[in-house]
Amino acid sequence: MISLEEAKERLFASIKTARTERVPLIHALGRICAEPISSLVDLPGFDNSAMDGYAVRADDLRSASESQPIELKVIGRIGAGETFGGIVSPGTCLRLFTGSVVPEGADAVVMQEEVHAENGAARFAETVKPFENIRLRGEDIRTGTQIADAGDLLNATRLALLAATGHSEVAVSVQPRIALLATGDELVEPGLPLGPGKIYESNRLLLASLLRSLQIKPTVLPLVPDTLEATTSTLEAAFANHEVVITTGGVSVGEFDFVKEAFTRIGGVIDHWKVAIRPGKPFVFGRLEKRFLFGLPGNPVSALVTFLVLVRPALLKMMGARECELATVGGELTAPISNPGDRRHFVRCEYKKGGVRPLGRQASHMLGSLGDANCLVDVPPATRLDAGTMVSANLF
Ligand code: AMP
Ligand code: MG
Repeated sequence: MISLEEAKERLFASIKTARTERVPLIHALGRICAEPISSLVDLPGFDNSAMDGYAVRADDLRSASESQPIELKVIGRIGAGETFGGIVSPGTCLRLFTGSVVPEGADAVVMQEEVHAENGAARFAETVKPFENIRLRGEDIRTGTQIADAGDLLNATRLALLAATGHSEVAVSVQPRIALLATGDELVEPGLPLGPGKIYESNRLLLASLLRSLQIKPTVLPLVPDTLEATTSTLEAAFANHEVVITTGGVSVGEFDFVKEAFTRIGGVIDHWKVAIRPGKPFVFGRLEKRFLFGLPGNPVSALVTFLVLVRPALLKMMGARECELATVGGELTAPISNPGDRRHFVRCEYKKGGVRPLGRQASHMLGSLGDANCLVDVPPATRLDAGTMVSANLF
């Protein structure tokens, strides 16, 4: 039996970061940035107005007051995206809008609500400070400032920042091609009639869905019966065009557990296979040249946990991500949890509005909790956590 940390260390030590490719930003959501990126422009790109209003020379209005307003001649109008050829000289002003270029000569903008405009003139009843309501060129981001780094997750906001700073493509790590297979004579495709002793298969959908959140669309293979021949030929075919194969079931020491033997037959090397976590003790990591096998237990709950705590970090590491672990959030337990066992227990919970609710029965064959589960709480061996304890919820 090895610890989760050791299992992860061994996984990470075997894994190399993937090749990179350039993709249009529109196809980069959820991908991992592969190089440092700098802004190609100043933001803002030019001094521009923060308001709909009038560009003025602050000096012209230095004596403006309610009782003695100052009138300036409106010499034109400049919309956002337009340019103005002239100069705002003393005694004049220019109508402009949010985002309009501040014209030469002007050094402040007065918002339109404070201006009375009539017959080509504008009346100002207040003073204005130089640079008031002007967004200065480069005050946000300067050309050359780094805006993303290798390992960053490209989420919606970072992609928007890349677009705003002049980029249309980005270098990202190539995602591994992944095949999913489920072993077990008892398994039936959902929607088909269940014979005696049979159960509906759900692990491939679980894993395919979890992979989708990494923007990976796996190949979902047909169900594999419990024979050495079927397992061997399926694994062989899967590794022919995938870098990663994830299996569920068939990795314990039961008579019908063929994944390890089949993998060894096709030339693979098994690295380790017992991790001190609950649920999910039997876990196979195998290498076939530069390709990897992740053999997960068949229980859907065990498959979920081993995927989240071992496979997901390994895949993110492969993609060069800086952050390979699930995001965590602190929350207060709404009910006690106890782990009398000698392995750390990843307890399925629902995080909601600051509370962490442990869900129903936690045995690894109990699926009732899966509907509401959105996080795992890592409970150390021989530990009881009372209701009200602050815990860290690993969100998925
Ligand atoms: P195994 O790891 O093959 O010994 O399976 C452990 C338990 O999980 C057994 O009760 C199996 O019937 C069940 N199981 C295995 N694979 C799946 C699957 N793909 N979908 C749902 N349940 C499964
Ligand atoms: Mg089985």
